[in-house]
Formats: sequence, structure tokens, C-alpha cells
Amino acid sequence: MTLNFFDDPKATAQGQSGAPATTAFGTPAVPVVNALNFAPPPASAPSVVASGATAVAFPQPPVSAPAVGDAGLSGLEEINFKARRITVDDKKIINCRADLNQLVPFKYEWAWQKYLDACSNHWMPQEVSMSRDIALWKDPNGLTDDERTIIKRNLGFFSTADSLVANNLVLAIYRHITNPECRQYLLRQSFEEALHTHAYQYIIESLGLDEGEIFNMYREIPSIHAKDAFQIQFTQELADPNFHTGTPETDGRLLRNLIGYYVIMEGIFFYVGFVQMLAFGRQNKMTGSSEEFQYILRDESMHLNFGIDLINQIKAENPHLWTSEFQAEIAELIKEAVELEYQYAEDTMPRGVLGLNVGMFSEYLRFIANRRCKQIGLTELYAGAKNPFPWMSEMLDLKKEKNFFETRVIDYQTGGALSWD
Ligand code: FE
Repeated sequence: MTLNFFDDPKATAQGQSGAPATTAFGTPAVPVVNALNFAPPPASAPSVVASGATAVAFPQPPVSAPAVGDAGLSGLEEINFKARRITVDDKKIINCRADLNQLVPFKYEWAWQKYLDACSNHWMPQEVSMSRDIALWKDPNGLTDDERTIIKRNLGFFSTADSLVANNLVLAIYRHITNPECRQYLLRQSFEEALHTHAYQYIIESLGLDEGEIFNMYREIPSIHAKDAFQIQFTQELADPNFHTGTPETDGRLLRNLIGYYVIMEGIFFYVGFVQMLAFGRQNKMTGSSEEFQYILRDESMHLNFGIDLINQIKAENPHLWTSEFQAEIAELIKEAVELEYQYAEDTMPRGVLGLNVGMFSEYLRFIANRRCKQIGLTELYAGAKNPFPWMSEMLDLKKEKNFFETRVIDYQTGGALSWD
């Protein structure tokens, strides 16, 4: 599902700020130039739209859109014919009022580079063979009950979690991120979230699992529900058509959402499951499923890194948002997330298995929470926490990721599988 602003003209009109006397380029504004206006423009303001053959029949928004602070453009505005060309200095991550439909000149090279890197890592779920997993799963003695529980609960969590992330991208944050380089990455990321959901479904289908049981776990298993309920609050407030950035309060809510999804969901809530699923592969069990998760981890580590750059760039451009109160609020959210993820570890793995136990996860979650805090400029929350899974760091190493991809290409051409050394 993609955003379809045309479904609700009222909502789109509310998504804009009031009409200024001049545009961001200093040219005289036509009426409501910064609001959506699907009606033909006045004769005095010829536009590309007006010269097209397609008639527009959408209802008009109110002539006087309510002022909503200094919110940015959406990219859906009437095309401002003969406006001054944009420069790098016109661009901003949030609340930008320069044309959003021109990718260049680049200002945020890191965003464009991450888009290119993500495309270089392209993969498809069905490229991974599931034949060994199917044989092991169907063998009554192939796996213990505890091992089966870990696999099913992780599929239960991830199969709906990536849908929540995708929905947050397209229904909540995309319209508030007013930079084309970043939007380009968000579009690529959205597709990757779809691929991940595809990968879970491919595993579920291959193993012949009860789809109703798996896809309902986020409504039926308390530890999974608790994580998702924690996340969806961030989406709901930004997806509200009455929500606009442009004030310190609402810009802070956007930043809180970005931390909620990039740092907490993709940076903490995914990691017990990643460790567990990759631990199977390291023991030469469920290697196809484990390989799917390794590709997903590689994508997710890039989502996380993009998110951290995005958050830090917004902080740099809007230092007034990073108050001590805000930092305290974020620290509380991260502590709560560590608790929720620990409950998830206990719920998926009540007894030690695969060389893992919940005590190790308690330590690991503190370790990665510290790391996430440091990445966004917060004080570490858990002094002295150590990483009990150093092999996970190796998986996240960028050079390893590159080697991993090269290995995969060679293996793919010869029909083999990844090495789990
Ligand atoms: Fe993601």
C-alpha cells in the first residue's frame, strides 16, 4: 500500500502551511501556492501543469489554509513555472520550503550514498534454498520443541514488525522529511521492508506453518504485542492529518518517532531475534532461514545507520530540539525498550538453547542500548555492559558485509549456500 493523498483532499490541504505573500524563492505567490491546488492556475501564472493535456477535477482545498507554523513543502504543490533554480543552501531535512522534486544539487551525500549502497546489496528471498530447512523441520527428531518455539515466535514478531516499519515510513514520516536525497533512501528502504515481509512469508510457507497462528502472534503473544503497541504510538501521532511539523513541539515529535523506529525498533527490538536466528545457522541448523535473516540483518544495519545520520543531521540543523528534557524522555524510552526486549527474550527462550541463555541477552541488550545512545549523542545508560556475542559485531562489520555479498554472488552462481564460519 502506498500513500494516496488524492483520497482525502481535506487532509492534504491541512498538511500545508498558510499561503505566504511570496514563495520560498522570493517570487510573488499565486493564491495558496504552497497548499495543494488541483484547480487550474490563474492565467497570470502559467505552469507546467496548465500546459498539460490532463484536466484536473479534484475538489479545491479551502482558499485560506490554516497557518501551521513553519512546516515544509510536500512536493505536491503546483509547479512554480520559471521560479529561481534551487541551490544547496535552500535544502533542509525538515521544514524545507524549496522544491522537493529535484534530487540535485546534492546536499546530503551520505543519504544518496546509502541509497546506492542499498541498491548494490539487492537480493530476493526466493534466491535462498529452503530444502534443508524443510527436511529438518519435518523430521520429528530434527529440532527440539524449544528450538521450534524460537523459530515460530521470531517469525510471529518479524512478519508483522516489518509491516509496522513500512507503514511508519509511508504513512507517517515520508511527508515530513522534506529532502529528496533522504526521500530516495526512504523509498528504497520501503521496498526492502516489503522484501523482508516477503522473506518471512517464504519461510512460513516453505515450512508449512500455520499462517493464522504466526500472523496473529502480535495480537496473541503478550511480549510481541507489547513491543508493537510501544511502536505504533509513534506512528499514530504523525499519521494524524492534523499533525504538522514547524514548531519545536511537533519537530520534537518527529525526532522522537525517528528514534522510536530507527534506534529502538530496528536497532534494539530486532536484535534478540537476529541473534537467535543466526545462532541456528552457526550450528548448521535451519541454514536457509538463517541466511534469510542474515540478508535482513545486513539491510537493517543500513536502515539503522541511515536513521542515525538522519537524526544527527536534524539535531545539527535544529539544536534547540535537543533539550535535557528531550534527552531524558528518550533515555526513558530506551530503558523501557530494553525491558520489553528482555521479556521477548524470556518468552522466546525460557530455557538455554543453541548456546544462548536469557542472562546473555540481558547483557547484550544493555550493550547495544549503550551503543545506540552513543550513536545519537546520549549518555550511555548501562555502565560497563559487555558484548556476549562478538560474532554479531563481525556480521555487522561493513567490510564483512561486502565480503558477504561477494560470497553470495559466487555461491549463487554455483548453487551453494553461505559459509557459516
Ligand atoms: Fe528496516
